[in-house]
Amino acid sequence: MAKIKAIRGMNDILPDQTPVWQYLERTVKNVLSAYGYSEVRMPVVEQTSLFKRSIGEVTDIVEKEMYTFDDRNGESLTLRPEGTASCVRAAEEHGLLFNQMQRFWYQGPMFRYERPQKGRYRQFHQVGVETFGMPNADIDAEVIMLSARLWKQLGLLDSVTLQLNTLGSNEARADYKQALVEYLSARKDQLDEDSQRRLETNPLRILDSKDQNTQALLDDAPVLTDYLDEESRQHFSELTQMLDDAGVQYEINPRLVRGLDYYCKTVFEWVTDKLGAQGTVCAGGRYDGLVKQLGGRPTPAVGFAMGVERLILLLETLDLIPQAVKQPFDLYLAAEHKGLQSKVVLYADRLRDRFEGLRVQIHCGGQKNIRQKAQQTGAPIVLLLKETDNQELCGTVWYNGEPIFDLEEGQVQDKIASIWQA
Ligand code: ATP
Ligand code: MG
Repeated sequence: MAKIKAIRGMNDILPDQTPVWQYLERTVKNVLSAYGYSEVRMPVVEQTSLFKRSIGEVTDIVEKEMYTFDDRNGESLTLRPEGTASCVRAAEEHGLLFNQMQRFWYQGPMFRYERPQKGRYRQFHQVGVETFGMPNADIDAEVIMLSARLWKQLGLLDSVTLQLNTLGSNEARADYKQALVEYLSARKDQLDEDSQRRLETNPLRILDSKDQNTQALLDDAPVLTDYLDEESRQHFSELTQMLDDAGVQYEINPRLVRGLDYYCKTVFEWVTDKLGAQGTVCAGGRYDGLVKQLGGRPTPAVGFAMGVERLILLLETLDLIPQAVKQPFDLYLAAEHKGLQSKVVLYADRLRDRFEGLRVQIHCGGQKNIRQKAQQTGAPIVLLLKETDNQELCGTVWYNGEPIFDLEEGQVQDKIASIWQA
């Protein structure tokens, strides 16, 4: 019988990888807590209409990437393709938005039916940040600075670039859209196929077309910057001023539009050239209209989401994962001869009692090639116990593959202490 395999584009994360995930998650949590953000955990399934209404009917996600199905009652449900809509839904449902300022974060799997390739999967993971109730550029600056701090902690700051743009108000964008459509409609036959279709459905997306002819055509097209309303201009200049003051470097990219309908004013992406086509590791912006669009009262909001798989790929590509991260334990404990196993079990627990945080694994199984096996575990400290003729426990401590101490009974814990604390 054929063996059952995982779904294409949905990955198992195995023990050689989980320490890296935990390292990234730990670092992210530390940074988020330094800014006072609170975690929210949402379900992975929502009503389909939530995503249609928020992300937009004519976006790539809603048109062709959602995992949508009817449940047993015939209700249309969707595996969440992103977290913002769910986060807004949850916050609104529980009365966390009206007249309040909130800073939330979440993490977890997202689902999109895309062609699986490096950095692009059907189940992938995001860490997202969403803030509510703050209309000014200070919070735009904060979420960007927070992400920059994370890159710094991970050693990535030199490998990512911040691309920044402003989309202006809804009205300004509508005027611009009209001018862009007029210009491009007159040159429709020169556009790539996707862009021709978008001309009818989502013309702003043409700005980030990957097609070279289309990009060349855009060189003479109307630019969004010329259509910006005064308030958005002011907002953007305050933001760039704060980023300048904070020493956060950015590139203004007037063609950065983002694929979701709900953005206004600030949009940004952190991109790298080290991962090929899947170069965006974090993306976000301001979405002042979304809460109202989903039935709440008008609430300004800013957020971003980062792709965990892409960040891990980047850390691995650049060899930035600290050595110690991949070690599942610090000390391996084994008996050198038969008949001591029950003491090994107890002794390991004594060590765990005495040294909080010391990660001890004991050897279980046969006594053959015990030193070799202990070394193969990669543990920096190995303790091999034996018994003297008058049944006292003693042993040898190995450190990074070398025997460094012979221990007599009574000494063992002190010697471990000196290595552990060093
Ligand atoms: P892309 O242009 O690469 O398709 P996107 O604009 O669709 O990205 P967002 O919806 O902004 O992506 O999601 C935020 C981040 O989540 C992306 O910048 C990326 O790092 C990550 N991401 C999005 N889709 C996937 C996927 N299918 N597999 C892995 N990571 C993804
Ligand atoms: Mg996409």
